[in-house]
Amino acid sequence: MAAFDYDLFVIGAGSGGVRAARIAAAHGAKVAIAEEYRIGGTCVIRGCVPKKLLVYASRFASEFEEAAGFGWTLPGKPVFDWRTLIANKDREIARLESIYKANLERAGVTVLKTRATLDGPHEIRLDSENRVVTAAHILIATGGTVNLDPALPGMQHAITSNEAFHLDRLPKSIVVCGGGYIAVEFASIFHGLGVDTTLIYRGEKILRGFDEDMRDGLTEALTRHGVKVITGTVLTAIETQPAGLQLALESGASIKTDQVMFAIGRSPNTAGLGLEKAGVLTGTKGQIGVDAFSKTNVAHIYAVGDVTDRVNLTPIAIREGHAFADTVFGNKPAKVDHTMIPTAVFTSPEIGTVGLSEASARAGGQPIDIYKANFRPMKSTLSGATDRMIMKLVVDQATQKVLGVHVLGPDAGEIIQMAAIALKLGATKADFDATVALHPSAAEELVTMREKWIPPV
Ligand code: FAD
Repeated sequence: MAAFDYDLFVIGAGSGGVRAARIAAAHGAKVAIAEEYRIGGTCVIRGCVPKKLLVYASRFASEFEEAAGFGWTLPGKPVFDWRTLIANKDREIARLESIYKANLERAGVTVLKTRATLDGPHEIRLDSENRVVTAAHILIATGGTVNLDPALPGMQHAITSNEAFHLDRLPKSIVVCGGGYIAVEFASIFHGLGVDTTLIYRGEKILRGFDEDMRDGLTEALTRHGVKVITGTVLTAIETQPAGLQLALESGASIKTDQVMFAIGRSPNTAGLGLEKAGVLTGTKGQIGVDAFSKTNVAHIYAVGDVTDRVNLTPIAIREGHAFADTVFGNKPAKVDHTMIPTAVFTSPEIGTVGLSEASARAGGQPIDIYKANFRPMKSTLSGATDRMIMKLVVDQATQKVLGVHVLGPDAGEIIQMAAIALKLGATKADFDATVALHPSAAEELVTMREKWIPPV
């Protein structure tokens, strides 16, 4: 006789929660999942997917310009319509959401459209249904929330990535605050769509944690394209004016703009979740502490994805959710390997990266060899585009293992996905050299770099 309503209750139907629920159900568990907003979570509804659609849209302007070098003449000046883009994007997101929901239901998962919070170690309160259900196991997969700066006067006039996907109209000018990948991606998107764009970051250089050559190369490219990149300062006030917003900067400068967007990081979404009622412990950022199997300090409560603040990316949340379900319901204990994770920054030009940056490899103390290439992509020879492509290998001197690959330029993300397989297999520089080049391509440079880079003295 079942002592609980469910074998598993999942809070949050995002990347991690959906995968965990489906796999656990496939293992025979009786599963329910609660979602307070939309099925699919951040990635599908207001993260990776809609962002990439906007990235595609933002790249057409330069492609129209480049077409002339290849003999194309456009009948007139291309015209962009923001509302069409957003309507088409919304239609696609709704389609994906319905697929996610159907997949859950087909797997036998009960989908509950409500906010859910913990009401005890095995009790879950369903807000919109005003009832409490019980479960033998609970998975917390509530993701993250955008950080704001509540002390900043006028903060209420700023938007975040959540609102950026639903603006009624494209602003004429925007200031994006932040230096992480979401901030630079949105700056690049808005700029590509013809918005006068400024990026303001309090640190010295954008994209902390990325390889220095990528950080410098992207800053240089964005600046050359016309994005104003201002570092080493923050906003001190946002004021409304009859014709937009007036921003005051710590540096003393002021900027008039149509819109201001904050992308200053995200935090684990644990506020008000009732964790204390179940005895689940959190860390200083509110993240749920878990072991290698995603188990919290309470034996039957697990957490996966951004709420644990390990590596905040969709494929990781999915893997953690899958590994949890296999471990607890599939009798197949599984841990997620959080190393060698490929990742991209979908700016124009884009960055793809896997493994160690030069700085982190050097910080590890091991002697390394660096190989670098900096060249004009073939397409630019006729298009006249000024962008450079930068490629870099970080190689362990003793073992000759390739520790990191970094690419800035067209299709960098696609290139890095493949390079990641080689690194996962422990490829050496000799393996890269032994791989036949695919010609003519940009990626062939990764297997034809022969000269070690000598740092300037
Ligand atoms: P989420 O997908 O955030 O899902 C959590 C879900 O829980 C949400 O649907 C939320 O509504 C729901 N929820 C929260 N609390 C409750 C509650 N109490 N009751 C019921 N439901 C609740 N990652 C990449 O890999 N590549 C990218 O290019 C990329 N781009 C991004 C761009 C943006 C703008 C953003 C914001 C994120 C991006 N990410 C990207 C990160 C990615 O979206 C997250 O890492 C991923 O969604 C984490 O999955 P998750 O399951 O942990 O949480």
